[in-house]
Amino acid sequence: MSTLADRYARIKASLPPHVELIAVSKTRSVAEIRALYDLGQRAFGENYPQELREKAALLPNDIQWHFIGHLQRSNVKHVLPLAHLIHGVDGPKLLDEIEKRARATGRTAHVLLQVHIAREETKHGLSGPELLALVEGWDAARWAHIRVRGLMGMATDTEDDDLVRSEFRTLAGLFHRIQAGHTFREHGFDTLSMGMTNDFGLALEAGSTLVRIGTALFGPRP
Ligand SMILES: *Cc1c(COP(=O)(O)O)cnc(C)c1O
Repeated sequence: MSTLADRYARIKASLPPHVELIAVSKTRSVAEIRALYDLGQRAFGENYPQELREKAALLPNDIQWHFIGHLQRSNVKHVLPLAHLIHGVDGPKLLDEIEKRARATGRTAHVLLQVHIAREETKHGLSGPELLALVEGWDAARWAHIRVRGLMGMATDTEDDDLVRSEFRTLAGLFHRIQAGHTFREHGFDTLSMGMTNDFGLALEAGSTLVRIGTALFGPRP
């Protein structure tokens, strides 16, 4: 049986140096997170606000917490003070709530816009046209305390590599198109969050700059 240290070393060795690894720790215990922290990992991803709050209170404060779940407006006030980056932002109403809370607490919120690239209906995010419309109509005064750092997406959960590859390419195409425009030039728009345990190889081929990996590090979730 491989150890956490083996798996961590193997995954890190498979990533190009410019690609960031987020260890997805949802449902994992504080002790498991601590073990990976002790191996040097600092960026962890959580999906549920309550779980994030409980863990953040018990773990070292140099951990960078990435909020990768679906964020409801009512939870923004809990997540914002803890999150280094919020990955799942999918529309103006959520942006308004993030802006309101960031302004009130004197913070700048760093976010990714989530794009729906998968076949599954259940995955959240903006369609390509919705994304481009949002970017086109970006209101810098309305969202003055928000920095859009990039895009995030999840491919269809399938064995069909060609489908997954084409979904990642679609997302990468949108990323490069927005990067080439002027809207987020001052935001540090440099992050393309795509790839998980089963598809991060394909995501890297398509240009991912950040992979979110849980199972391949910690084993199957309980
Ligand atoms: C759970 C989750 C992951 C990690 O999935 P694994 O298959 O365990 O690597 C990545 N991204 C998001 C958004 C998730 O919810």
